[in-house]
Formats: sequence, structure tokens, C-alpha cells
Amino acid sequence: MKTANPFAGHELRPPQLTAEEAATAARVCFGVEGELLPLDSHQDRNFRIEAPGGRYVLKIANDAFTPAELDLQNRAMEHVGAELPGIVPQPLAAGDGRYIADAAGRRVRLVTYLDGEPLRDFDHLAPPVLRDAGRLVARVAGALGSFEHPAADRVLQWDVRHAHDVSSAFASAVPDAGRRELARRAMERAARGLEPFTSELRVQVIHGDTTDWNVLARRDPAGRPLPCALIDFGDVMRSWLAADCAVLATSVSGRNPVRSLQEAVEVVRGFHSVVPLTDAELAALPALIVARAVISALGGEHQRALEPANRYVARGVELSWGILRALTAIPPALAHAAFRDACGLPAHGRPPARLRPAPGALADELERARPAPVDLSPQTDALEAGAWRDAGALTEVVERLRLAGAVPVGRYGERRIVHDTGPGLDEPSTVHLGADIFLPEGTVTRAPLPGRVLRAGDQELLLELRDSGLRLRVAGFVPRDIDGEVAAGDELGAVAAPRAGQRLPAHLHVQLGVEELDELPGLAPASLASAWLALCPDPAPLLGLEVAATAEPVGTALERRRRFVASPQRLYYAPKPPQIERGWRQWLYDVAGRAYLDVINNVAIVGHSHPMVEAAAARQLRRLNTNSRFLYDAMGRFAERLVRLSPDPLEVVFLVNSGSEAGDLALRLARVVTGRHDLLCFEGCYHGWTAATNETLSAPPWVHPVTRPHPDPEGSLRELAETVDRLVAAGRPPAALLCEPVLGNLGGVVPPAGCLDRAYAAVRAAGGLCIADEVQVGYGRLGSHFWAFEQQGVVPDIVTVAKATGNGHPVAAVITTRDIADSFGRAEDLFSSVGGSPVSCEVGIAVLDVLEEERLQENARKVGDHLSDRLGALVEEFPIARALHGIGLYRGLELGHEDGRPATEAARAICERMLELGVIVQPTGPGANVLKLKPPLCVTKRDVDYLAGTLAETLKNGW
Ligand code: PMP
Repeated sequence: MKTANPFAGHELRPPQLTAEEAATAARVCFGVEGELLPLDSHQDRNFRIEAPGGRYVLKIANDAFTPAELDLQNRAMEHVGAELPGIVPQPLAAGDGRYIADAAGRRVRLVTYLDGEPLRDFDHLAPPVLRDAGRLVARVAGALGSFEHPAADRVLQWDVRHAHDVSSAFASAVPDAGRRELARRAMERAARGLEPFTSELRVQVIHGDTTDWNVLARRDPAGRPLPCALIDFGDVMRSWLAADCAVLATSVSGRNPVRSLQEAVEVVRGFHSVVPLTDAELAALPALIVARAVISALGGEHQRALEPANRYVARGVELSWGILRALTAIPPALAHAAFRDACGLPAHGRPPARLRPAPGALADELERARPAPVDLSPQTDALEAGAWRDAGALTEVVERLRLAGAVPVGRYGERRIVHDTGPGLDEPSTVHLGADIFLPEGTVTRAPLPGRVLRAGDQELLLELRDSGLRLRVAGFVPRDIDGEVAAGDELGAVAAPRAGQRLPAHLHVQLGVEELDELPGLAPASLASAWLALCPDPAPLLGLEVAATAEPVGTALERRRRFVASPQRLYYAPKPPQIERGWRQWLYDVAGRAYLDVINNVAIVGHSHPMVEAAAARQLRRLNTNSRFLYDAMGRFAERLVRLSPDPLEVVFLVNSGSEAGDLALRLARVVTGRHDLLCFEGCYHGWTAATNETLSAPPWVHPVTRPHPDPEGSLRELAETVDRLVAAGRPPAALLCEPVLGNLGGVVPPAGCLDRAYAAVRAAGGLCIADEVQVGYGRLGSHFWAFEQQGVVPDIVTVAKATGNGHPVAAVITTRDIADSFGRAEDLFSSVGGSPVSCEVGIAVLDVLEEERLQENARKVGDHLSDRLGALVEEFPIARALHGIGLYRGLELGHEDGRPATEAARAICERMLELGVIVQPTGPGANVLKLKPPLCVTKRDVDYLAGTLAETLKNGW
């Protein structure tokens, strides 16, 4: 094999051939006639032909390629096609039986055209898409494993085996010195990384150009790309098998520079699931990926110099530099560990070094110290009500432990909430890779073991620990002026005062890391935690203290839930739900400490973990909680508050535990009071899970669902009147109409003015009662009104309300007239053991107090108007956003296809993408295509801007 610069001066200008000449070639050689459309290509000239008999690609080869090479490409396609039909293009024979025809001195081929869009055209590739792409490429690589051809040993510039030579040959084509230097350094590092493994890498015929240009995708029903074909066999050659995986990983990793590694990891995961990679291949992959990025960037520059007008080339070059920059920022050791982890292998094979420092070597305080962990995780009980963002509160926690004679320790491997800055587009770094030892400012710090100073930074030192293969990073202290070798016990400096803006009080951050790492960041994102933790071992031996967090492995909660909780109790975001362990105001936090804007929680109406609600519950739990047959004052006080919020003649209250129970009781009241049994409701609308309320969905003979008053209110009213008439005529007039005054179930559809009034009139004329289900839409959420029925200008006979009533605590109410309650009481009585318990009532009162004190209904109006403006703009901009429903802070963004079909799958996928961007939102409605937007009422305009921004980003760049 040639290894000297075989590429210097190698020009690959695409052959110049006009469309007419190409059309003639297609007709004369292959008997195909049709419309010709030029296709983008690097080195060949390609045309898509739309012919009556099908679609083809006419390929006019670059003169640089020999007939044997073209034959190699054709045979490779045939070979793969025989094993995997439909996935790769197939060559077609010319009239004379030859697969390579001659047209005007050019070598011309015809291949089948495969449908699909290049993966490159999708701005966002979800993790499953990347895995699928990896699998597809691996299937083709697997099929090529049994392919041989005499021309396979070609020397191509794209062969990563020659990356070093290519980079030397092409470096001069890079006009920018900074870029040239970036490429040079990246290539050198990659070459060093590859060198130990080259002899172990499997060699076979590979596709060689498995970029996201050449992976084609169809759209799945959700509109996500579904990789389905691999085209362009122009670079087929014998090379390293792992290169096909690397090339794809390189090409997909420029979309979001901070997630380049996670994207590559998904590709590797997919590839490995089809063609298992060996230890050597996994070890070489990080360097292969970078090497490929270098030759893409340099090769692109070379090509740009030859073809300054080629848009395809220019676009590719800029992208390649972005990719190279992102990839060079990833420590190769980390990439290696992450790839191994993704393949189910131990992330780092080396056994932990034995470190035996003298007790208390790092600081005197650690000798015979009793370590006390400071829990900084989302499940901490030491920090409430957002106190993890408050330096003063954190200092108090630490001081308390210190006063008790312990050395407070921030744990290694802990997934932390303490670095919370609210929802963000990217996954935050929350996993602690070292240990924090909280020591008083000025405490003397010494070298625990002999070593060498690698770097002294501002308030930190990086030491190489002698003969251990490990590095030690100590931060949070003022280093003395030291350099070179240090002996165990040498003074390093003194613990520093916290920096301005630092949340945690004075502490030493002590972190070990394998010597392959140049930098030891203190925190890692959860998605890379196992790789990082494998490279940054537990510093316990160094400290002589237990410092590791003892969190259960990721996935335990889900597994336990699946095992012991009945399957019909479904999860949001199944099958990969986030584990949510804390709520505060309008935010939810997952177990790794990532914050999400909660746009779904009408339950937590005043915000999560509201201190006043919590205090009311705790106080009353300490005092008394019993069943509701005792006389205690809270029940009357809560009922009074509800009545004062309700118009006449709604003046008495039943207290129960849930919206379903409230609906069930409302139905019972109506039946007992009217002596009738039948129920009117709107089709497909949910009112609860009890046997009776659930019947609005199953519609047995005594339930009469009427078409919903949207989109045709007149038709719905007509049907309602006819149904009432029919029931009366049949001698079974309805007991009641049960419906939501604003249709929350449909995503917040507001019936037109007068609609509900006319419906109520029709029911009442037949002697029926009107039940308003305010479980979702009531309690101030609409902004303009406390109750949704007020917005509709009606007064129901019975109101059910829940969810918001307890801000998550189970308390619900049925509010009705004295006549109805008394009439029911003459026939039956009601006892719900803990419905309206002392705790429930105190919670209920506290929620109403907060609503009032914080003027949350007014906030719902103001912020709701802003939400309407922002989301209204999305409806204007994006065809899939069909309509915005609702008022105040009960909104629904309806998603639909152009033909009017509900965009059910897309809605689900969009919600998944929104989760990645830090927003919790879910679909609702009969078509599950309306994004329900009903956040806690304490949300701000800024939150709404964040929501609108992430939605716009998702709708624009895909999901
Ligand atoms: N009515 C409506 C309109 C609802 O949306 C719900 C719950 N989603 C219920 C009643 C039942 O309430 P709960 O879940 O508290 O039983």
C-alpha cells in the first residue's frame, strides 16, 4: 500500500456534462427517457431521472476512477442488495448488457433511485434516530463483510487509514491559519490515539462514505426521520470496518456542539447492536472519528478551492469545521469510556490504584474526623423551598453539622440540585465527580501523596500522583507558590473564601482522574455520568473518609414501579420517563437535578411545594387528623370559603377526596333528587375513574353522549335538544347534564357565548339538573373568572372541583344548593372517612389564601394574555400548529396535518423533544393532538417566553 502522499495534487473535478448530453446518454445507453434533475455530488456528475417506468440515478463517473473501480462499486451494491433488498441502490444493465456504458467518452452508469431525504436535511436527530442510523450502517457493513473484489484495495483520500497523509497533503488548501492549526493538532492527537490499535482493527470492504448525506430517511408517522437507505457507493474500498461507524458518528455530531459526544454515542450504540465492536475498535473510535473530521474539513477545503461556486461543497466545509471544533473539545478517554458504556461494557477497565496516604494527610481536620454528608441532591431534606439556590441557607446547613463536631462532606457521584439555574435548553452538568470537604477558610491544605504540579490555576492545583496513573485536582484554596515536585505533607495552600456568587460555603473540592484526562471538570451531565465517574474514581482512599453518594442505580425506580404497580396506571413519557423527585414553584426536578418548566400541572395551582400549604398540612398533621364525623372547625371554615367564592344559590359543600369522587357524588345527588337515572354529557369527555363517572366514556344505555360543542356548537345544541326530547318522549327524562363549562378535556376549547346557557336551558326545561365539572378549568385559572361557568354566564346546580383545591393534596368538593343537598339528605347520608379531614381542609384554606395573597388569578390573566400572544404567533408561523384554544392559563395548542387529521404521533414526539429542551408538556384531546398548557399560576412572562421559544425551536428544527 502506498503511504507517501498519494493525494498531493489529486484533482477531482466533477466531469462536465450538460443535462442534454446526459439525457442522450440515458436514452441511447439505457433506453430510459424522462426528466433529468441534477443531484449534488462531490466528484461525479449525477442526475435523477423521472421516467415513466420509474426513477433512476444516472451517474457519470469522474475520469479519475477506473472501470475496475466502477465495477467494484456495482458489485458491492449488488452484493448488499442481495442480502438487504431495498436498502441500497442497484445497478442496471445497459442495452448491450454492460453495467458501465460509454457516452461521449464518459463512463456512465444507471442505478435505481431510492426514496428518502438525506439525514443531513434534518436539523434535529433524536437519539432513537441516531441509533437507527447506526444500525442501518452496521447492517450494510455486516453484508459487505463477505464481499471481495480485486479493485477493493484502492487508495482514496477518504480512507481514514491515510488520514495523516491526507491532512499533510491538504493542509495548504486551508486559507485560515487558525483552522490549519486546529486540524494539525487534532490529526496529531488522533494519530497518537490510533497508533496502539491499528494492527488489531478489522479490515474488510466497507462503504466508506456513511455520512448523513448518504443515509436516507423516510418520515415516520410522527414526522421523525426513519433511516431507511444508504446510497452512494463511490468510496467503497477495503479499510477498517470501524471506519463506517466513525464516519457516521462524525457527520451527525455537528448539530448541537455541546451534545456531539452523546450523538456519537447513540450511533455507536446502534452500530454495536448489529455488528459488535471489539475492544480495540472501541478504543480506536474516538481517534477515528476525529481523524475523519479532519479529512472532511481539509478535503472539503481542497474541493472548495477547485470548485468555488459549488454550494454543496461550501456548505459542507463550514459544517465540517464546526464538527471538528466540537469533536476536538471531547477528551478521547471520555469518548472511549462513553462508547464502552453504551455497548454495555465496563466504561474503564483499569483497576483502581491503591492510594495510601497518612490519615488526615490533606488537612489536619480529616484525621479521626467523622464525616457528615451534606445532601445536595434533589431528594435532600436539608434544603427546602428553593434553599439550594441560597448561599446563606447552604452555609447554615454546613455550620449546623460542623457545630455537631462533624466534617461536612459534599458527596462524590452525587446528582445535585444545588447547581440549579432553572430550565435550560441543554442538559446541565449536575453529577459531582469529586468530593467537597467543607473546611473553615484558611485551613491549611497539604499534599496527601507525593506528586508533581501539572497546573496551578486560580484557587486550584492539578497534581500528578506518583506511580498511580492518577491525577489529583484540589480546588477551593489559595495555592502557595509551588512548582515541580511536591512531597507528601508539603503545604499546598489554605482554604479560600467562597468566590462572589458561589453558593456553597468554603470547601476543598478533591477529585481524582485518570492520567489520560487533561482537564478534570467538577461536574458532568447525567447522560455521561457513568463514563465520567469511571474516569474520576472515588477519592475516598485519599481522604480516609467515606464520601460516595449511595444513590440507587439509574432505572431502579422505573423497574420497581413496573414490577409492583398495576400497569394501567400509566406514566407520562413511557417508555423512558424522567424520574421526577422534586417540585418548586413552576419547576419540576428530575433525580439528576435537572429543572424543567412544568406546563402541565393544574394540580399544583399555587406552585409546587408551596411553604404555606406545606406548613398548613404539617401543622394540622401534628395537631389532629381524623375522619370527618367529628366536629372540628376547619371543615366549616373551608366550606365557607368555597361558598363565598360561589354565586347564589350555591351555598353548601360536600367534601371528598378527588375529582372522580366529586363527579360520582354529583351524579348521585342528581339521581336521588330528580328520581331519574339518565345522564347527558359530551362525547368522549372524561369526568373520573369511578364506575359511574367513567361511564361518560363507555356510554351504557343510561348515558347519552352528545357531540361536543366544537367545532360545531349549533349542531351540538341541536343534538342536545333532540336527545332531551327523545328521552322525555321515551319516558326517561335526564337526571342531569354533566360537562366542563370550558372544555379542558379538548384542550381548553371555550364554547361560544350563550352556548352553555342554551344547553342548560334545554336540560332544565325537561326537569334535569346541570353539573359543572370545574376540576380542570376552575379555581382562577382562566384569569378573567374564578369559575369557568362564570365565564360562560351560567349558574349550575352542582359544581365539582378538585385538583387545584389541595394543590396536590387529595381534597375535592361538590358545591350545590341547600335544596339539593337537603333533598338528598332526606333519602341518604354521606360519609367519606377522610374527605374533608382536618388536614385536607387546612390545606384547602391555605391554597385559597395563597391564591388571594399572591393575586394568582390576576397573574393568570396577565401571563395568560402573553401566552396567547406568543403562541398565537406560532399558529401563524407553523402550519402544523392549527389553532390555539383556551383563556388565561388554560390553553391548548392544537396540532394537525394539512388535510385536517390530528397530528397525534407528532404531538407525542414534540412533547419528548420539549422534555429534552427542559419543558414538561403533554397532549390531550380525543386525538391526543392538543398540547395542554396549564402551568402553576405562579408562572411568569419569562417562563412563557421560554415555552414559546422552545416550541418554536422544535417546530422549526424538528423533533
Ligand atoms: N373531571 C375532569 C374534567 C378531569 O380532568 C379529571 C381528572 N383528569 C377528573 C374529573 C377526575 O379527577 P381526579 O383525577 O381528581 O379523580
